[in-house]
Amino acid sequence: MSAQPLSQPSVVGASRCYIHPGRPALGTCARCGIFYCDRDHRVVEGKAYCEDCSIRPDVDYLEAFRLKYWGRRDFWAWFVGFGAALHIFSGFSIFTTGAVEAMPLGVFGFLAGVVEVFFWLGVPWARRALIGVPIVFMAVGVMYGGLVAVAFGIFGLLVSIAINMDTRNKLFFKREVSREALQKSWDLYMNNAMARAGLMLGVASLIPGVGIVALACSISGLLQVDPKATPPIGRKGQAIAGIVLGALGTLYWGNFVLSEIFK
Ligand SMILES: [Zn+2]
Ligand SMILES: [Zn+2]
Repeated sequence: MSAQPLSQPSVVGASRCYIHPGRPALGTCARCGIFYCDRDHRVVEGKAYCEDCSIRPDVDYLEAFRLKYWGRRDFWAWFVGFGAALHIFSGFSIFTTGAVEAMPLGVFGFLAGVVEVFFWLGVPWARRALIGVPIVFMAVGVMYGGLVAVAFGIFGLLVSIAINMDTRNKLFFKREVSREALQKSWDLYMNNAMARAGLMLGVASLIPGVGIVALACSISGLLQVDPKATPPIGRKGQAIAGIVLGALGTLYWGNFVLSEIFK
């Protein structure tokens, strides 16, 4: 899947493969150090490994990430599931009013709700059908002369297209995604979550007390940064930004508290 043999480096002296003693060694595994041959030589993210090491979750972390979220509901699945409940409820309440002129809206509510329930269940056709929901909503809205409905519809269309393009949502629907897309998604969700949280808290450190938490998270995040580790841990810049913002927030509120006490 991810591990593919590269062009063969030169044979390492007269060494033999650890797994296949009858074959000459091509090099040593970057993780466990054993000699590998052309049969069990694997390359992951530019480093050479033996076959066993190449499939470890810490080595092939993108594959581990893919497997972790394969078929698992992401934020968008729950978001759409929540929308399903709202649509079905609104469709039902429109029907109970019995107002004939509102019936198209009631039917829309039910149909949208059904599509969204199947989306929540991870049924493949519902992924594309979700894009149809705001389009039908606009068509129904125009019947009522509502430009607001069109505006909402366009917003909904953009959101549903974004959902269709989202890597974790694709994994929920068990669709193959490229290594590049996995890397981006891994960076977002997995790469130094502490530094990421620290920066977000740092931005929020105008709220009293948040600065000190931002400072703690960002310092911890900065200490974890190690671009040479497997998998690499980044976000150095964000950790530093979080420390600066957290420190400013802490200084501001610390000064405020002290001046209140000693005034
Ligand atoms: Zn190894
Ligand atoms: Zn071998």
